[in-house]
Amino acid sequence: MPELPEVENLRLSLLPALVGARLNRLVVYHPDVLINPGELDPVGHICLDIQRRGKYLRLCFDNDLVMEVHLRMTGHLLLRLDESILPPSYPHSEHIHVGYEWEKDGRAFLLLYQDTRRFGRIELISHTDLDARSTGSGNLGPEPFADECNADYLCRRAVRHSRMPLKSFLLDQNVIAGLGNIYVDEILFAARLNPLRPAAELTVDEAERIVSHMRRILKLAIAAKGTTFRDYVDGHNLKGSFQEQLFVYGRGGEPCRICGTTLANARIGGRNTVYCPTCQPGTGAVQESP
Ligand SMILES: [Zn+2]
Repeated sequence: MPELPEVENLRLSLLPALVGARLNRLVVYHPDVLINPGELDPVGHICLDIQRRGKYLRLCFDNDLVMEVHLRMTGHLLLRLDESILPPSYPHSEHIHVGYEWEKDGRAFLLLYQDTRRFGRIELISHTDLDARSTGSGNLGPEPFADECNADYLCRRAVRHSRMPLKSFLLDQNVIAGLGNIYVDEILFAARLNPLRPAAELTVDEAERIVSHMRRILKLAIAAKGTTFRDYVDGHNLKGSFQEQLFVYGRGGEPCRICGTTLANARIGGRNTVYCPTCQPGTGAVQESP
């Protein structure tokens, strides 16, 4: 699933084409991916900006409408700038659910929403209602780079979750917006904290390590254009390269890059978790037999 660095990189890849472009037509092949269709219409309107909140991408139009995209597992937004595939001749596959037909500076181009598993959603909502609602992105915690997302905040939030493992705590989008399985495993490894430790035991010093490594790792991942572990690509169908810098995610059973210990796999809150029992000692650090 794309996490903050991947959605941010997708945003950056779409900005030059979409900002200032007029949406001439919206072709919806599978209406079930749209939430609130018809209440506000983006057709005929200009995209003013693309914003990101957590793992959500927001296309902001000049009529107060926001088209908020949540890619979930396998959603992609792909630009098609080649004139040979412009409407009405462009190929339609069963995995393309929405086609956006744009025009900018006298040139037409396409943006396709493609999603093989069709878990992703596109919500049409007025800008004024965005943060007022308690569903979807209205229910998110602070952004990792926001000043309020600091060690004191994490400790305050953590004490409410008596036995919740640190891994599940950091995955909770209501605590911090934008982290997922890849980056939580990497952050806890860098902070030398065991993912099975109860969040409520978090000290201020440990929370500071989480915040500083979280920001450092997310910046590195954005600079590397995200992690392509399975199928993430940006708006130009380009893969990221941060998978080459991962220390633990996807490396269960392989030697730790720091100490050589075999990395352990654990199931935490239904999510596969990889950690180093030596670098991340503590509750639940079960050394796997060699
Ligand atoms: Zn290690």
